Amino acid sequence: MNKFDPSVAIHDYLVFGEFGDVNPSITDSSTYTFLSTKRMEELFSHEIEGCFLYSRHWNPINKYLSGALARFENTESAQVTGSGMSAINCAIMQICSAGDEIISSHTIYGGTYALFKNFLPKFNITTRFIDITDLRRVEKSITERTKVIYCETISNPLLEISDIPALAKLAKKYGLKLVVDNTFAPMIVSPKRLGADVVIHSMTKYINGTSDCVAGCICSTNEFIASLNDINSGASMLLGPVLDSFRASSILKNIHSLHLRMQKHSENAMYIAKKFVKLGLKTYYPGLPQHKGHKLLKSMMNNGFGFSGMIAIDVYDEKKANKLMEMMQKESVGYLAVSLGYFKTLFSAPSHSTSSEIPEEEQKQIGLGKGMVRFSIGLDNNIEETFERIKKCMKKLNII
Ligand code: PLP
Repeated sequence: MNKFDPSVAIHDYLVFGEFGDVNPSITDSSTYTFLSTKRMEELFSHEIEGCFLYSRHWNPINKYLSGALARFENTESAQVTGSGMSAINCAIMQICSAGDEIISSHTIYGGTYALFKNFLPKFNITTRFIDITDLRRVEKSITERTKVIYCETISNPLLEISDIPALAKLAKKYGLKLVVDNTFAPMIVSPKRLGADVVIHSMTKYINGTSDCVAGCICSTNEFIASLNDINSGASMLLGPVLDSFRASSILKNIHSLHLRMQKHSENAMYIAKKFVKLGLKTYYPGLPQHKGHKLLKSMMNNGFGFSGMIAIDVYDEKKANKLMEMMQKESVGYLAVSLGYFKTLFSAPSHSTSSEIPEEEQKQIGLGKGMVRFSIGLDNNIEETFERIKKCMKKLNII
């Protein structure tokens, strides 16, 4: 376990508004005025602290939120974006040019898979999807065209664990960038401290925690974030995925309870996962000692935030999985909905929802069954009662 405590790093980040407001003011402006033309010209050539030009470049509240994210991911800098997908897009397009290759884990979020598999080839950026836990295979797949190794810390939806220090070593050896999507493990793992070059989040999930907006971020070096904002060649500047100021403001408030939420999500998920195992269910949860990546995750994680709130089970039957989810919703276990990190429990069947972009044959290969149900366990105060309700549904359907 690591000594770094992201919750302390973020607690130390104090920003306040122009009137001393404890929550910094939201600047309700797309453009900013200048007292001299000279100053405006200067700002076009380089960033000047405290000076803003146009909200697609930067605005104060987005700067503050980015500062908080850099603190807790322990990177020099960060940039917020209008979605997790735009964060992934901007980071990849900044690093790669036509002709370049990405080596990506084959178990990643379906949208990212579709981006790499179907969309980026239009720009002659191609991807080799491999088992990222097979480090020899990763090294063998590197060619002179490879620019990026891409993985998720805890993968969506199979909850596989990426060996970030080992992948970082490979990336360094071959002069590549290691890009890590840390959406499932905020606070729990700090990928930059383990050697990642770029850390991505879909802030739509745990970081915001209230499922009321879509947002993302890219955390990296000053140099990389500045390159994203270059007025002539920056992916963020030119693709324009700016996050709305009002949303940045609400996320900045929510992020200060992230450490407590992660602890509770993890505690509840551990409880449910152990109960599922006792019921004899095929259970995927990296907090369980029998999980393939358990030891590895333990060696990478920060102390005190648990193993995340994501669990998957396989009931080996699509119809039963569907019925189970409908019944659990009726029994108020939570919602039949995609996404994760909400205060209520959410469940969906990845094979025909968030991972449906992955062709059936490949789903089979990676072990993603049609009867798999993914849970994002909520912040329930009485998790015992929640489990009893799940058990009741499972019994009715003869799953247990
Ligand atoms: N990364 C992961 C791991 C995800 O689960 C998701 C969405 O589900 C994304 C990225 C995309 O984020 P967004 O929906 O905010 O664009």
